[in-house]
Amino acid sequence: MAKSRCPLCNEIVEELRYQLHLLSDAYLIQQIMTEHPEWVEEDGACPMCIERLRSTGRA
Ligand SMILES: [Zn+2]
Repeated sequence: MAKSRCPLCNEIVEELRYQLHLLSDAYLIQQIMTEHPEWVEEDGACPMCIERLRSTGRA
């Protein structure tokens, strides 16, 4: 299975997750766009980035 490069952390990852609005909520997408203004949801994100963003800023 081909590996992908995460557009957020630039790591080579097993898989990228798409359809983040289904996995999480608008807050997560806002966080990504704040850090990476050129990112679009179709670019995807790796699970680690999703977890990192989920665990930050929500307190
Ligand atoms: Zn990543």
